[in-house]
This record gives sequence, structure tokens and C-alpha cells, in this order.
Amino acid sequence: MSDVYASIQSRIRAAAVASGRPADAVTLVAVSKLQPWDHIAPILAAGQRVFGENRVQEAMGRWSERRAQVELRLIGPLQSNKAHEAVGFFDVIESLDREKLAHVLAGEIQAQGKAPRLFVQVNTGEEPQKAGVVPGQADAFIALCRGLDLPVEGLMCIPPAQGDPAPHFRLLGQIAARNDLAKLSMGMSDDFETAIACGATSVRVGSALFGSRT
Ligand SMILES: *Cc1c(COP(=O)(O)O)cnc(C)c1O
Repeated sequence: MSDVYASIQSRIRAAAVASGRPADAVTLVAVSKLQPWDHIAPILAAGQRVFGENRVQEAMGRWSERRAQVELRLIGPLQSNKAHEAVGFFDVIESLDREKLAHVLAGEIQAQGKAPRLFVQVNTGEEPQKAGVVPGQADAFIALCRGLDLPVEGLMCIPPAQGDPAPHFRLLGQIAARNDLAKLSMGMSDDFETAIACGATSVRVGSALFGSRT
């Protein structure tokens, strides 16, 4: 098994235990976007089965042949005109971030008779360049999604690049708790242990696992 993979896994398990949860309480989402296949193959061979991708077309190119072996999560912004393919292809969409997309996804789920699990993305830092509903609109947006029968199971955030991410992770946890959502997708290569300490149920790790992206 790849040493790097083993070491990330053991850090995740240790952080889960340190937060008072079972060692296997946190899911590793291996972010394979923009990685050459020879970086991904050893991790797949070592048993990793959950992968995150940023773009629909890129993910389909990389994973179509091996689709049945893996759980695939879309973690990047989703354009409405790609919703048809995204609903058809992904197990989980973590970037549900606006009303129009909620309506388009609801229509696709109806039409295709299958539904990916969904996460609402929250822009905890209220950064203009970032996707996600702002915290003050999260409760209303989650209610709207539920009104459309969308299977929302959790929340996702990407804290600002600078500064302490912990307050952002805690804020996401508070929004989830008051909306009865069990899943929290938060934490990346540089901060996944902090995210687990704040209650993450899945972490999205790319460069620490595969090396820097080209
Ligand atoms: C690229 C990406 C990641 C992985 O980032 P690393 O810092 O390489 O671990 C996680 N989440 C999202 C939404 C991303 O776009």
C-alpha cells in the first residue's frame, strides 16, 4: 500500500478517535481532479473507493470505464446545463448552491428516476468569488430543497484560504445541527484534522494524497 495513503488514513482515524468518535467515522474523499492516472491507480489498487471530482466532463472521461468500482462525488460548481449528466453519473453532488440548480436537479431526478445524495454548499466566509449560499440564507435554502423532495443529507464548505478555518467548520456544524443534517463535508489537505475535530464526517483530500496538481 502507498505510504502516503496509509499515513493519511491513519491521521484521519486518529483525529476521529481524538474527537470522541469511532476510528472509521470519517470518510476519505480522494480528490482526483487534474491528476494523472498513474497517481490515482495505486490509491485505487490500495482499496480507496470514494473519489471527488470538480468537473462533470473530466470525471466522465476519467471514471466511465471503472464506474462500477467507485463512489463518485461532484465537489465543484455545477452549471444547470450539466445537471442532466451529473444526475446520471454521480453518487453524490456536494455543490448544491442555488435555487435555480435545486429546481433543475429536482426535474432531472424525477425524469431519470434516480437521485444522487446531495450536500448544500455554504459560503461560510461570504466570499464573493466563492460558490455557496451565505449562512444567513442557509436555513431557508435547505427548506426549499426539502420542499422539492431533494435528498439533502449534509452541508459542504470551503473556508477562506487565509486565516483559521475552525470558526468556519464550527459554523457549518451549527447550521447542520439546527437543520437536522447529519453529514458535514469539510477539510482538505491542509486542514482535515481541524475539520474532523469540528465534526467533519467526510474530508476531501487531493494534493496531500496524489501530489500537487499539474
Ligand atoms: C480541489 C479541491 C479539494 C482538494 O484540495 P487539496 O488542497 O488538494 O486537498 C477539496 N475540495 C474542493 C471543493 C476542491 O475543489
